[in-house]
Amino acid sequence: MGASERLEVGMKGARILLIAIALGFILGIAVGYVISMTPVPTKTLFASWFKAFGDIFVRLIRIIIPLLIFFTIAAATSSIASGRRLGTILVVMLVVYLGTSALAASLGVLAGQVFTPGAMVTLDVPKDYKPPSPPSGVDVLLSFFQTDFNSLLAVGGSMTMIIFAIILGVATVLLGEEGRRVAYYLSLASKTTISFVRVVMYYAPIAVFSYAAWLMISYGPAMLGAYARFLMSQYSLSIFHLVVVYSILVVLGGLNPLKYFRAQSTPFLIAFTTRSSAVTLPYNMEAARSLGVPREVYGLTLPLGATVNMDGTALYQALSAVFIAQLFGLTLTPYHISLLIIAAMIGSVATAAIPGGGTIMLAYVLSVIGLPLEGIGIMLVIDPITDAMRTAINVSGDNASAILISRLTGYKLELLHKP
Ligand code: ASP
Repeated sequence: MGASERLEVGMKGARILLIAIALGFILGIAVGYVISMTPVPTKTLFASWFKAFGDIFVRLIRIIIPLLIFFTIAAATSSIASGRRLGTILVVMLVVYLGTSALAASLGVLAGQVFTPGAMVTLDVPKDYKPPSPPSGVDVLLSFFQTDFNSLLAVGGSMTMIIFAIILGVATVLLGEEGRRVAYYLSLASKTTISFVRVVMYYAPIAVFSYAAWLMISYGPAMLGAYARFLMSQYSLSIFHLVVVYSILVVLGGLNPLKYFRAQSTPFLIAFTTRSSAVTLPYNMEAARSLGVPREVYGLTLPLGATVNMDGTALYQALSAVFIAQLFGLTLTPYHISLLIIAAMIGSVATAAIPGGGTIMLAYVLSVIGLPLEGIGIMLVIDPITDAMRTAINVSGDNASAILISRLTGYKLELLHKP
């Protein structure tokens, strides 16, 4: 089979898989809705089985994540022969990531002020409440550098893995001719880890179906209840960020946004149901590749983005803080609001790319502006529904940024096929 035929078969396979995943999602919501009306013991039993079938998928992907992050970053770094180019990519990436996160956090604050989701309920501030002290700058800095090699392998410890892989990539470049041989093997290993994910991908429609049904059975009623206003605020502003802000990034990157949204639909659904940017990383890389983003760019920026670039989380954390302040009847001054935007940016960078990571880090954001940590308990009730949307936005932002970063660093999108 020739290369172009293989490509066509691959594209067709990807399209069938997308349809299967989308069908799984719709069917899962419908089945979950029907089961959510059955008596509690039946519901609970079904929910636990559905969740288990989804968890199998997440576990299979999690096994490969540390290797995938290591090999793709090391291979990408070692293939960028010039140190200056590597530096430019990293600097441009940082500016784009921080800029979009600041925008997302501001949208979160805006949503909180406009929709006032917490204004209808007033909770008493606990009597013995004292504002907690936030973690120090030293703690945050050192959390990026794990203490030993074993901790590199934890999914949450991926920042250290990224640093390790970049240094190793640079080291191979410094080795010259011999280093190029190492770079070749790193690239082969990176392709193999991606191929591993392609095998697991066949299970994705079942996993998406199972998770969608579980979400609906367990959390469907909350979407109609007291939390509806919060969810409406989060979902509408997140979609706005996705459609407007990312379209602008993609257009500035020189690509038709419709092509981006089409390629992004599979990672979006995978992120929505697995609620993990780390687990979605291989799908995001596949989408970037199909959009023609050069491997040197996506191999470096997407694993980093999955860990540090979380616009959906920044928006959620800022909105949650405003919501919690409203619930407790506390007023946020302009000073608090500026501090909140910065805290949500840092909080989203420090959030682990795993389900629920953003609500754990919300503790940091609340403590910076002195809001009651009881707010975490309130947000945990609907965490899986808020997490689904914030993860889908997080991964979409990584790919929109990759397109813009390619353009800004002098790369051209390598169109693989005529649309
Ligand atoms: N689950 C999100 C992610 O993996 C992080 C979060 O909880 O906000 O991107």
